[in-house]
Amino acid sequence: MRPFTYDRAATAQSAAKAFGAASAMAPVQGRGSAEYLAGGTTLLDLMKLDVMQPSKVIDLTGMGPAHSGIVASERGLYLGSLVKMSAAADHPDILKTYPVIAQSLQLAASAQLRNMATLGGNVLQRTRCVYFRDTGWTACNKRQPGSGCAALDGSNRQHALFGGSNDCIATYPGDFAQALVALDATVDLIGVSGSRSLPFASLHRRPGPTPHIETALLPGEMITGFHVPSGPWTKRSVYLKIRDRQSYEFALASAAIALDMDGAAVRTVHIALGGVATVPWRATEAEASLIGKPLDEASTRNAARIAFSGAVPRHHNAFKIALGQATLVRALLHAGQLET
Ligand code: SF4
Repeated sequence: MRPFTYDRAATAQSAAKAFGAASAMAPVQGRGSAEYLAGGTTLLDLMKLDVMQPSKVIDLTGMGPAHSGIVASERGLYLGSLVKMSAAADHPDILKTYPVIAQSLQLAASAQLRNMATLGGNVLQRTRCVYFRDTGWTACNKRQPGSGCAALDGSNRQHALFGGSNDCIATYPGDFAQALVALDATVDLIGVSGSRSLPFASLHRRPGPTPHIETALLPGEMITGFHVPSGPWTKRSVYLKIRDRQSYEFALASAAIALDMDGAAVRTVHIALGGVATVPWRATEAEASLIGKPLDEASTRNAARIAFSGAVPRHHNAFKIALGQATLVRALLHAGQLET
């Protein structure tokens, strides 16, 4: 691990100010810039691997209760960015009214990591692409812009079917983000220029020609919280995650569903796919195909076919098309059977 300086921020404003100068001069996230430290479960890993080399680490954990709250009301749910994953996963209001959030968090990482990791850090976790995490590989545009992409002709079993480019096909690794996308959440940000909110679905960027720029965050900007609007679809929601082993593993395919039924017909359905795309992936055309239909084998299989019709498979990941379709069918049928 390389030397770095350490600051502990008392407020979001002072953290953003401390971040500003160092980040503005650094061309690549984590290389010579400042970095925020919350739970540390991604940052410290990547610093030890020498993938991230921050010159300054700014600890956010002293910012106090302003960003550690969970508030459920008739208008929806507010989650502070410093809430621990385990606290949200076990919260009674979330278990009852937003089960897709609880499930996405329960199925992520290990119990020890969930007790450490924060929600803000979780949505910003970086890809598990082996070429990104192993500095012995020189070709990784995300780690070193312009160096190439070893995964394009290398081992790409875990990589993305959607949202990739000629410069990067790394999969977004998280689970909670799919739940937020399916629930139409917004994210609150604060930076040197003030505060703003974004639709959560706009936070992550597809790689395009600049895979090292992963989010819409400006230099020095941080997440302070998430808002999930109330709606008749939040209770009948589910997260299904398929992986190589049943614990402490990243998704090969996952689906977050939020559903509202009008009798036997679908009134509204929100679908977000994980494990198959470079960003949390909303399947809007598949959603549209289900409106007004009964939720049965025929309609869900058709929706899954539509959802994966634009997939771009690589040498080793074509199996994810059938796997992703089966995951989506199972998740939709399961959501349809839930009592509300
Ligand atoms: Fe790097 Fe992206 Fe290629 Fe992986 S897929 S080697 S992260 S550029």
